[in-house]
Amino acid sequence: MITLNQVRKKFREQEVLKGISLQVKKGDVVAILGPSGSGKTTFLRCINFLERADGGTLMMNHDNKIINLATASPKEILSVRRKTAFVFQNYNLFKNKTSLENIMEGLVTARSVKYDEAKKKAEEALAWVGLSAKRDVYPCQLSGGQQQRIGIARAVVLDPEIILFDEPTSALDPELVGEVLEVLRKVARQGITMIVVTHEMGFAQEVSNKVIFMDQGVIVEEGTPKKIFTNPTEERTKKFLSRFMETNNMYYI
Ligand code: ADP
Ligand code: MG
Repeated sequence: MITLNQVRKKFREQEVLKGISLQVKKGDVVAILGPSGSGKTTFLRCINFLERADGGTLMMNHDNKIINLATASPKEILSVRRKTAFVFQNYNLFKNKTSLENIMEGLVTARSVKYDEAKKKAEEALAWVGLSAKRDVYPCQLSGGQQQRIGIARAVVLDPEIILFDEPTSALDPELVGEVLEVLRKVARQGITMIVVTHEMGFAQEVSNKVIFMDQGVIVEEGTPKKIFTNPTEERTKKFLSRFMETNNMYYI
């Protein structure tokens, strides 16, 4: 489905990604865990060229072409962007567009879908995330949870091969996390392939079928949620998980 090989990225002298390789199969939900600054966001951004990697390759199954992330041509970048969608930590909605317009935007501009069809699809996506009533309001009139649900609808409506989620719930007040996780579960149930950077351990354990633990620009450990959460083998993974559980009063996952 998507194969990443030896992805590298430096910011000035700082090596942020030191050769990350990951294979994602169709329908996989991959959870990426790791401390702040470990390179999780940079990795996701390199996958769809929001950030330009210094090295590494990407291959997607629709054409099996190996793309060099460092030297990809505009055409190759477009071909990857057409098959991927990104959900941002801070929603990144257009402030001067309504909910419906936000969801339509990508269809009309990036996918060249005709206006009427885009509108119909966007209305369906709005209903799917339970926000039909908010069709004509602007982001400032929505809660964070609602904005993120629009962000997810905007990604899903593109019908991408894979959706990249960068800590989709971490900017939210705690009482709003649940509604967004509920929509994320719905995305997973659709069989949509997902990579989710998250600190929601319960969610990762319940929904993902593969967990990656990253630290300081490398994948320290990967495995099934059961293995990583109940029987991690690497010291760094154990430390991270135990520290995390303590600070969040989650002693028993
Ligand atoms: P994470 O998402 O795991 O918290 P990031 O990928 O955001 O980590 O960042 C990894 C490291 O790269 C951090 O030290 C961060 O300060 C640095 N970094 C991220 N983006 C930039 C940038 N645009 N310019 C310089 N340094 C950056
Ligand atoms: Mg991040």
